Amino acid sequence: MSENISIIGLGLMGSALAGALLDAGHRVTVWNRSAGKADPLVARGAVRAATAAEAAGASPLVIVCVLDYAAAHQALDGAPLDGRVVLNLTNGRPAEARRTAAWVESQGGTYLDGGIMAVPQMIGQPGALILYSGSRAAFERHEQALSALAAPRFLGEEPGLAALHDLAMLTGMYGQIGGFLQAAALVRSEGLPVAEFTEELLVPWLHAMAALLPRWAEEIEARDYATDVSNLEINQVGLENLVTAFEEQGVKPDLFLPMKAILDARVAGGHGAEGLPGLIEEIQPR
Ligand code: NDP
Repeated sequence: MSENISIIGLGLMGSALAGALLDAGHRVTVWNRSAGKADPLVARGAVRAATAAEAAGASPLVIVCVLDYAAAHQALDGAPLDGRVVLNLTNGRPAEARRTAAWVESQGGTYLDGGIMAVPQMIGQPGALILYSGSRAAFERHEQALSALAAPRFLGEEPGLAALHDLAMLTGMYGQIGGFLQAAALVRSEGLPVAEFTEELLVPWLHAMAALLPRWAEEIEARDYATDVSNLEINQVGLENLVTAFEEQGVKPDLFLPMKAILDARVAGGHGAEGLPGLIEEIQPR
């Protein structure tokens, strides 16, 4: 079923969102601070709004995708939100999402927050995921239209849940990127081919190690860190070796020093016989 949908913010992501909604046959109204970015979408059938307020007034579903929450507030300030669903797909923090939800509701609107787990080129394609939280009724009302953007996953009515999960997933991603860069530097320090190492050895290894994570997650939930895999004392020797090897090979150890400090503190606290999941108690002390 075709819906009227407005998009505020036509950067790389907002333009991709608008394009996917146009492709799915929706009537899309667009606004961007620099008006020229609307031109390609208008050429594809989108309606140009002269102001953000006009865009918000044009549709029951108003999607915002701008630089940050401050920019989102700036764009929505003074817009007629009464009776509208505001879906904020701008990347932010849980506390910002909660504050924005309260503000939208104070304006008579209904709030949905979203976390986009995709790059613009993936929007509308298999593999793209968008996390949602906030009003369940609003999500269900627009779920079909939103499915044109990415597979939708509703996490709950607490507005900060999408941002929290988005940040948690990015945290895992940046950790993996940090490990990859350090590994690549070590291989390159001997003049060896990084591509061959990555494809043939590192990626299969990371897949095998990732398979351990659900079990570690259960240990974290149970706060039971007994291990039959490898204890912290063994890993302490391993990390010491890594840091020394980095230095010997002319590779900066900086990315790994904080993890080593956390592991050292946990062992010093008398937990050397535990497994690696126990390090969470140093990161987030009770
Ligand atoms: P861009 O830099 O391409 O676009 C930023 C957008 O924000 C532009 O439309 C810009 O308008 C607008 N903007 C900035 N400041 C203001 C303001 N004060 N008032 C009104 N509009 C403003 O970024 P993206 O499109 O890539 O990112 C948009 C959001 O999507 C971000 O929160 C980002 O984290 C999120 N996201 C992006 C992903 C990506 O891969 N690109 C992936 C997942 C999430 P103008 O054109 O006038 O400068």
